[in-house]
Amino acid sequence: MTRSDDESDSSSNPEIEGLVDLEEDRRWEDIEPDDELVCVTSLFDEARFPDVHSMLQYCKEKYEFDLVQIGKNFDLGYLEFVKLVNYIRNEVKKGNKIFSIPSKRVFEDDQYLLPILADDALLFSLDEVTSTPANPSQDIIDNETEGRGLLEDSTCERLTELHNELDRVKQQFGAYREAVDKTLECRWSNQDSGPGLSEGNAQQLETADRLVKDESHYFTSYSYNEIHETMLKDTVRTDAYRDFIYDNKNLFKGKIVLDVGCGTGILSMFCAKAGAARVIAVDNSDIIDKAREIVFDNGLGDIITCLRGKIEEVSLPVPRVDIIVSEWMGYCLLYEAMLDSVLWARDRYLKPEGLMVPSHITLFVAPFADPDYITDHVAFWRSVYGFKMDSMLAQIHDDVLIRDVKLEHIPGSAHSFFALDLYSITTDRLSFTAIPFTVELEESIDSLDGFVIWFDTFFLPSREAVQSLESDTRAQKWAKSGGIAFTTGPAGQPTHWRQGVLLIDHGKAGSQQLEKGQTIEGTIDYKKREENQRALDIKLDWKVKGCSYGGTQTWCMR
Ligand code: SAH
Repeated sequence: MTRSDDESDSSSNPEIEGLVDLEEDRRWEDIEPDDELVCVTSLFDEARFPDVHSMLQYCKEKYEFDLVQIGKNFDLGYLEFVKLVNYIRNEVKKGNKIFSIPSKRVFEDDQYLLPILADDALLFSLDEVTSTPANPSQDIIDNETEGRGLLEDSTCERLTELHNELDRVKQQFGAYREAVDKTLECRWSNQDSGPGLSEGNAQQLETADRLVKDESHYFTSYSYNEIHETMLKDTVRTDAYRDFIYDNKNLFKGKIVLDVGCGTGILSMFCAKAGAARVIAVDNSDIIDKAREIVFDNGLGDIITCLRGKIEEVSLPVPRVDIIVSEWMGYCLLYEAMLDSVLWARDRYLKPEGLMVPSHITLFVAPFADPDYITDHVAFWRSVYGFKMDSMLAQIHDDVLIRDVKLEHIPGSAHSFFALDLYSITTDRLSFTAIPFTVELEESIDSLDGFVIWFDTFFLPSREAVQSLESDTRAQKWAKSGGIAFTTGPAGQPTHWRQGVLLIDHGKAGSQQLEKGQTIEGTIDYKKREENQRALDIKLDWKVKGCSYGGTQTWCMR
């Protein structure tokens, strides 16, 4: 579904926008159970059961096959469970016997997202199998049939829990539908192309394939503990979000918050603790399963709803939100291109007077001179045990290096070359060309070794507060005057973003002594890579004013 389709659908009935997608539901209504009696087919034979638990018990007793235990052993997420079920059904259909599942690998192929049985009630009930005690709804039915006219408090709570659970299942099922749709779409387009695939088509498919792989690699990278540990332990980052949220409880009290890319759910929990009425936490990585548990373990399950999926694809249980909170910043700010998703969410879900957290970012560039680094990591390759190894230098000058640069290696002023106002910036402006910069040398140097890039992040409590923020306001100055902001620059406390270092290739540009007071002028381009939109090319064109020394070079972050 394209964004404009999406918007035109929803604008026709804003009341129900986001709650149900009628068109989608019609397409699927033949396989949705609604209120009909569920009939679950055994995994291994034709036997049918009124509910999933009796079917699983039957498989355990008759075939000594414990699906729930296998799920636990492999720590399966929802979609993995779907694949496992379809894998088993497929093998059984082929006449193969299944006694055990040796490894997750056997059912990891996306082909197993496609249902083997039409109307497979087991797939709709998987959430019951994976996370709730046996037949919880029966408790309520029992209570009611015992003649209790009024629902007791505990029953009300259980009902709310079940409603939440239902929301979750709907979301998971939505993600499953989407995965099936995508798999089918991919198959059909492959089939349509057939053997006479034209070169252009083949290339398009290859590019699409690569993009899908890049995407899945991207989200997989966020499924591991390490990256979340690094982010959470970056106290400059995490404290800033916490301080802004806790210092502005009045802004959060009773509000609906959307956390785009919730990770472990830390920002959602800050918001819930600050009094938000509801927080919707979305993430497309497997980390969402952990977030759900974390939220539950901290007793915040009634406020925070965790949804798996891309923000652009999940349907939120509310039409609009009051606040969007997100930690989307990548190296050199725009690597990873996650801001695109946040802006998409802003345009789709944020109320007109809503709040963006954070709200403003400024990008900086400064000159770099570190003779020791050049000796140790560049000149080193020119003679290794007497051998020339210059070919080892290629990447050094092609890639943006991510390093903690000491302030003493910044020999001049920093220039704020790009300021983002999160309320008004648009995605097309995130690739830019020929943004001018000027920096002045504050000391004499033997050689200009490169440039350094970093960003400052500001959390403003209102749209109006921006008036007091100048385009070159520094985070540290802002924080000193009582605002919440942090810098990822060399003058601040180190963060996990460190700084982007663009080393000048002296082999091409040459090198020259420069004097204190000289200025370097130039332009900067940021461009997304065509084959991987999350990768970034940064190009600098620079010239020392008043002399002929200068150069043009492009560095990549892939
Ligand atoms: N908010 C967490 C995690 C930030 S890392 C924290 O502050 O610690 C960014 C997270 O956003 C990752 O977990 C990644 O999987 C998720 N993400 C990135 N793009 C997304 C998208 N389009 N939809 C959903 N999640 C996304």
